Amino acid sequence: MEFHHYFKSRQGEMVNLLKELVNLESPSHDKKAVDACSDFIIKEFKKAGAKATRIPQKNIGDLYTVQYPGLKAKSKKEQILVLTHIDTVWPVGKIQNMPFYLSGSKIYGPGVLDMKAGLVMALMAVKTLHELNIEPQKNINVFINSAEETGDKASDEMIKKLSRKSACVLCLEPALPGGALKIQRKGRMVIKLDVSGKAAHAGTPEKGINAIVELMDQLGSLKKLRRTKGTTLNIGLINGGEKANIVAEKAFATLDIRFWTNVHRQKILEAFKQISPSIPGAKVRFSIESSTPPMEKTEVSSMLLSRIREIAQDTFKITLEAGKTGGGSDASIASSLGVPTVDGLGPDGEGIHADNEHLLLPSLVLRTALLTELFRQL
Ligand SMILES: [Zn+2]
Repeated sequence: MEFHHYFKSRQGEMVNLLKELVNLESPSHDKKAVDACSDFIIKEFKKAGAKATRIPQKNIGDLYTVQYPGLKAKSKKEQILVLTHIDTVWPVGKIQNMPFYLSGSKIYGPGVLDMKAGLVMALMAVKTLHELNIEPQKNINVFINSAEETGDKASDEMIKKLSRKSACVLCLEPALPGGALKIQRKGRMVIKLDVSGKAAHAGTPEKGINAIVELMDQLGSLKKLRRTKGTTLNIGLINGGEKANIVAEKAFATLDIRFWTNVHRQKILEAFKQISPSIPGAKVRFSIESSTPPMEKTEVSSMLLSRIREIAQDTFKITLEAGKTGGGSDASIASSLGVPTVDGLGPDGEGIHADNEHLLLPSLVLRTALLTELFRQL
């Protein structure tokens, strides 16, 4: 069976599924909306012979794992974990001015690329195995995250648990522009810097300690972190003081810092630990508000990538490139545990989190064929 031609013939069905999923808008914070969208895809998976397990959640949409058995699987370890997410960054109602539509070979719509297309791929691949009675080498376990865009402790823990039980992890986030897979992602830390000083009248500033001045000094010297190759530091939020005629007692800044490796992460934390006030008497504290590990290029992931490239070359005569990206994804969590992980297996397109979000339909077809072939061979 040559899956590329096969899925070309089922292209219309894929577009229809994608349309249903996009029209069921599912912003991370809207549990009801996310659950409704999950209901739809889970029903489809069940029709395709898969089993689904619901992990109920209070504050976010329910999490799901979808299992499809590999008939040759000999042990529990023989599992491929597929990472997807059903939530989007778009609020309910966005569809009114950003409708789902097909223009030439491009499909537009909120969340179409990030990553409702990934769900269509996983579903169509499983459906095809089922309908054609093809045995995958390993058990397939599709995890459907309901809060990937915002991050959530329960889903992070679930990904860790599932990853540890898996032989490899395939993440269906979109490809890099041009179709390259993703083997490296930046890690991210959100750090809050709190400064306290002492209030005084602006007429006698020597009696006070100005927290804003101290904060500005600290932010100035933290710029040195950017000297580590590829590290970025964004001062995204700043606040402090009360009035122009009062020496500011409190000030804070929130920083988004991104980096390529865990060694860089350590360096950044060291820099924060070494902070000492430049104004005597001022107090400076930092706290990590959130932290995502980097997806580093590990040996095991490189081996998985080689195998995927080989399969793509042999079966579809395509040469897959692999690259790196600044944004994070759930693949970083799996990869940081030392599990072979490849990301960016979703379709090619552009405009994630932007009004022109779209994917290239031929790429969706080809990537679905590739995923099915990976299920068959890996
Ligand atoms: Zn995504």
